[in-house]
Amino acid sequence: MQFEDIIGKVEEYRPGEDLALLRRAYQFSVSQHAEQKRLSGEPYIIHPLEVVHILAEMKLDPVCLAAGMLHDVVEDTRTNIEGVRREFGPEVARIVEGVTKIGRMKFTSPEEQQAENVRKMVLAMVDDIRVVLVKLADRLHNMRTLEYLTPEKQQRIARETLDIYAPIAHRLGMGKVRGELEDLSFRYLDPEGFTEVKKALESRRKVNEEFLQDVRGQVEAKMREMSIPARVEGRIKRLYSIRQKLLRQHIGIEQVYDLLAIRIVTDSVKNCYAALGVIHNTWRPVPGRIKDFIAIPRPNLYQSLHTSVIGPHGQPFEVQIRTEEMHRIAEEGIAAHWKYKDGRSLEEQDEERFAWLRHLVEWQQEMRDPGEFLSTLKIDLYPEEVYTFTPKGKVIVLPRDATPIDFAYAIHTEVGHHCVGAKVNGRIVPLKYRLRNGDIIEIATKTDHSPSRDWLAMVKTSRARNKIKHWINVQQRTQALEIGKRLLEKEARKYDIVLKKISPEDFQRVSRDYGCTLVDDLYAGLGYGKFAARQVLGKLSPSMPLEPGQPSRLTTVKRALGLSRDIAIQVHGHDDLMVYRAKCCNPIRGEEITGYITRGKGIAVHSRRCPNVQNLLYDADRRIDVEWVGPKYSVYAVKLILYTQDRQGLLADVTSAISSVHSNIQNIEARTGDNEANIDVTVDIVDLDHLEKIVSSLRRIDGVLQVERVMHP
Ligand code: MN
Repeated sequence: MQFEDIIGKVEEYRPGEDLALLRRAYQFSVSQHAEQKRLSGEPYIIHPLEVVHILAEMKLDPVCLAAGMLHDVVEDTRTNIEGVRREFGPEVARIVEGVTKIGRMKFTSPEEQQAENVRKMVLAMVDDIRVVLVKLADRLHNMRTLEYLTPEKQQRIARETLDIYAPIAHRLGMGKVRGELEDLSFRYLDPEGFTEVKKALESRRKVNEEFLQDVRGQVEAKMREMSIPARVEGRIKRLYSIRQKLLRQHIGIEQVYDLLAIRIVTDSVKNCYAALGVIHNTWRPVPGRIKDFIAIPRPNLYQSLHTSVIGPHGQPFEVQIRTEEMHRIAEEGIAAHWKYKDGRSLEEQDEERFAWLRHLVEWQQEMRDPGEFLSTLKIDLYPEEVYTFTPKGKVIVLPRDATPIDFAYAIHTEVGHHCVGAKVNGRIVPLKYRLRNGDIIEIATKTDHSPSRDWLAMVKTSRARNKIKHWINVQQRTQALEIGKRLLEKEARKYDIVLKKISPEDFQRVSRDYGCTLVDDLYAGLGYGKFAARQVLGKLSPSMPLEPGQPSRLTTVKRALGLSRDIAIQVHGHDDLMVYRAKCCNPIRGEEITGYITRGKGIAVHSRRCPNVQNLLYDADRRIDVEWVGPKYSVYAVKLILYTQDRQGLLADVTSAISSVHSNIQNIEARTGDNEANIDVTVDIVDLDHLEKIVSSLRRIDGVLQVERVMHP
């Protein structure tokens, strides 16, 4: 293939077009690949030339041809993509870049689902359909010259072609390219099967061709005779298709009814049936082979009449009859055709997309200047998906904007749970990074790492979201369960109830009363605060003196303490416990306090400074957190001792100092002797601040030596 031959071809289908760009691309490619040879021993330039030739046969535009000419310079020469952009502009560079990117992908012999994903990924990765067209032309020429490669490479490339590129060609409506790619792959992947089918076909090639020629002539004559306007075509089934059929149906080649086929395209539905009548009058139909897809179209709207008949010399052949309109739909609805052949269902969306792509390819071939149109058209076939790779080349399909966390959960739940970081294409990225098509992702894990609630805002897949939520729920439940157990134990200790003495049956019974299947559910409910420990305990131990109707001990204690309903001290998580201020330290609002679960007397609240709390005799397990709550105006009686000089009028000064800071004196006693006096005074105070104000105002009184708070009244 000479470059000038290609130029001649392009000038034929694009007369008057400026081909300077294409010529420059050729010169550049020649100089860049100058010393390189193909494995066949030929100069390397043969390859891009052949690729461009294939593209020219598709009647593609000069930009696409130039890109085809340069498609290997980035991968195989010292030129980088910037160089291509500088020399040939952004459009050519973009196509070359796309082809290079796809070429670098390693598609590891994928299973069917994976292959489907890879195909989608290739299509999703390109923003210009010409990238795929150049790639297919490249692959076609490589397949044609595959014999020079090592058997190992032959296998890999042929597999990839059959799994990825042939189906892509098929989707793009490029039946001819697809057929050739399939048959070439077949030859390398299954040489025996290939030879077998080829021999069988070869031995009857002449017969078959003559047969088709003959039948076509007869059909045309019959149609004319019956005044049915018709276009008649004949075809022989391709090698790979025959093989598939032989394998699928376990039959011999002579039993393949559609090995040879005739297609009749006419003008109306009426004439379709008329033509079928003519065919059946001429040749004997094979029973069970008549299919009326006109009366009952396939779900994808494919319409046609199919029949198989026994032709001259007992040779069966298939006849497809349809109108021009049906033919057009059958051709354009390429996805529908594909669906049938592969026995695989495509989503409706896919069908729309491929029908649209099919149009695109046709416009490309029919339009005078499709190049301009194509250059402004970006493909976004799967805008809602992103195709990513594991380091081993497995494709992971995720929704658009998915993050490495989604990826990690797609690999395995444990990978997700322990994910600490990610590398994309070898570079460390934050976990909120948005994955892009073709990204290769490595997830770093640490076994002691666990999911964070923040992740919920980052993930896009419901799988990741559910796994994270589930993990959090499990964690929370475990915690709640622990808390619930402790609460119940504490409550039980308060009433000297030994939980261990309560039978498992009683636990089960009470759990059921609360609508819990498991005792653990009861504990968790306690921990979540759904149930009150005291009530649960009451049911577990009915003898406990907390029966409804009885005055509760809490009320009793409160009354005894003179506390109002507005209890001033609260135990964390409880609002109805018996709580009282310990007499030993008599804590007041504002002081740091701690609770102590007494035996049968509720919770004593001590000042943190109280020596009794520090005492080792106090069981640490029985401590409980308490805090000051309720209205600030609860009043506490605090007893103070003043050490003073004995002087006239001092008592009056003390009382007026106390009233000046808005406190009341409940009781005051003075004892005198030897120029000194002790004054005991019990005052109402609101909180610690208030107390401190009283104390400091008392200290300011002339003759007051010291003021002490009495901790043990
Ligand atoms: Mn190439």
